[in-house]
Amino acid sequence: MTRKAAFIYSDELSTFVLPDSHPMKPIRLQYVYELLRDYGIFDLPEAALVEPRPVTDDEVLRFHKPEYLEYVKHVRTGDIPAFGFGPGDNPVSDGLYGAMAISAGGSVVAAELLAAGGFDRAFSILGGLHHAMPGHASGFCVFNDPVLAIQELLARGMKVAYVDIDCHHGDGVQYAFYDTDAVLNISVHESGSFLFPGTGFVNETGTGKGTGYSVNLPLYMYTGDEVYLWAFREVVPPLLEAFAPDVVVTQLGIDSHHRDPITHLGLTIQGFSEAVSDLADTAPKWLALGGGGYDVYAVARAWTAAYAIMLDTQLPDAIPDAYTERHGVTTLWDHDDLSEFAPHQKDARQYAEKSILELQREVFPVHGLRSG
Ligand SMILES: [Zn+2]
Repeated sequence: MTRKAAFIYSDELSTFVLPDSHPMKPIRLQYVYELLRDYGIFDLPEAALVEPRPVTDDEVLRFHKPEYLEYVKHVRTGDIPAFGFGPGDNPVSDGLYGAMAISAGGSVVAAELLAAGGFDRAFSILGGLHHAMPGHASGFCVFNDPVLAIQELLARGMKVAYVDIDCHHGDGVQYAFYDTDAVLNISVHESGSFLFPGTGFVNETGTGKGTGYSVNLPLYMYTGDEVYLWAFREVVPPLLEAFAPDVVVTQLGIDSHHRDPITHLGLTIQGFSEAVSDLADTAPKWLALGGGGYDVYAVARAWTAAYAIMLDTQLPDAIPDAYTERHGVTTLWDHDDLSEFAPHQKDARQYAEKSILELQREVFPVHGLRSG
C-alpha cells in the first residue's frame, strides 16, 4: 500500500552560515532537496512538499528552560558565550535563532500532520538535533526537536516509540524520557567508549517506571552493514512489536556512513536503507527526522533513499544527469571498496553480541519478551 508522505523543507536553514571549519554544513539539506527534485520524486501523487514554520516559545518551553530560550533568541555574533555555546561545536552567530526555530518547527509540523490524519508518514530533514539539553546547547544541537515532536504527539494522545540510528548516542532524548514508560526510546550508535557524547551504554535502561524503556545498542568502531543489520534486527523490531506504538519517530543520522569524517562506523547507503526499510515495516505512522551526517553527498543520497522508502518507490542507481553535472555524484548506492573494514568485523560481531545478550537479559523481560 502506498501512503501519503510529507517532506518538510525550506531553504531558510540550508543558507544558514557556520564557520568554514565547522563540520556541520547546512547546505547539505539543499543537496538532499535537489536530488529528490531531480529524481522527480515530488511529482509522485503520494509526495507532498510542506513548508515548516518557526517553533513557538510555548513549544520550546515544553523541554527547554526560559533563560536558555531568551539567550538563544537574542544572541549575536561576538556576544559572550554561555549555555554551552562557544568556539568549537556550538558557535553563536546572527541568525542562529531564526535557523534553529525553523529546524525545530519542521519537526513539530511533521508531528501535527501525522496527528491530524492526512498523512501516515512525514520526513523533516531540518531536524534530528538529539543532543540539545534543557539548558544548554550540545554537539551542534540547540533545540531538541525530536523531544518537541514527541511531546506534541504525546499531547495528542498518541503512543510513541523513538528509534535513533545516528552514529552518536541520542543523549538529549534519553534525558527527556528517562523516567517514563510513555516513550520507548531506542538508540543504535557507535559506542560512547570511542565517540561523543560518551554515553549510551547498555546499562542505561531508564529509572523508576521508565526502567526498561531506554534501550541502548552500542557498537564497535568500524562495524559494517552485515553486523549492524544483524544487531539492529535482534533488538529493534522485537521491541517495537512488543511496545506497539501508534507512531514511530526515527532520527536518521547518516554519520554512520563509512565516509563520514568525524565517526568510525562502516555503513553503506544500502545498509542504512535496509535498516530504514525495517523501520518502515514496523511503523503504523512514521515521523522521520534528519540528524548527523558530515559527508554532504552521503547525506544527500541516504535521505533521498529514505524518502523513496517512505513513498514505497524504487529509484534507479544512476543519479539524474543534471545533478551529476552540478555535484559530480554519479550513483545513489555505494560501490566503494570497503576491504579496510573487513579485518574488524569479527571484533564488531563480538562487541554487538555482548550488547545484545545484556539487553535481552535486562530489557526484554520488561516488555514480555524472552530473555536470550
Ligand atoms: Zn551524530
